[in-house]
Parts: sequence; structure tokens; C-alpha cells
Amino acid sequence: MSKKTDGVKSTGVMRKVDQLGRVVIPKELRMALDIEDNKDLLEIYVEGDKIILKKFASGCTFCGKEGVLSSFRGKIICPDCINEIKETEMF
Ligand SMILES: [Zn+2]
Repeated sequence: MSKKTDGVKSTGVMRKVDQLGRVVIPKELRMALDIEDNKDLLEIYVEGDKIILKKFASGCTFCGKEGVLSSFRGKIICPDCINEIKETEMF
């Protein structure tokens, strides 16, 4: 059973950290979040006493498109979204 608090779900899974600091992410979770072994990168965030692992998105932050991408304020963005932001800024 999973408990829900402010969008944070408890999976009820506990894992021991090994002597090298490694933790295994349960297969069901990797499948649910579409994380591929030996391919996907996880970004590590810290929030208070929590460690948050987020699948690293190589595509545009806003639309997910891959290809020619730039960086804007630390986010990866595609030319289409840059144009959209430019247009939006006028209002
Ligand atoms: Zn985009």
C-alpha cells in the first residue's frame, strides 16, 4: 500500500546502502518511471533530509524534444520553446 502526502508517495520499499554507498532502485520502480539500465542518468537532488533521484531528461525541459538544444537559466530548451517564450514575454 502506498501512502500519499503532498505528491510524495511512499513505496514502502526499504533498501540498505552498501559499503560503497550504493542503493538498488527496485525494478518495478525503474519500469514505472521508464528508467533503462546502463543507459539513463539520474539527477540527484537534496531537499532537507531527503534525497531525490530524478530521471535526467536529455531533451527539451519544456516539450521533451531532442535535437538542437540550448541552455536557458540552467534548463535545456529547444528553439521552438525559445521562440514561444520570446512571444509570451511581449505580453
Ligand atoms: Zn521545447
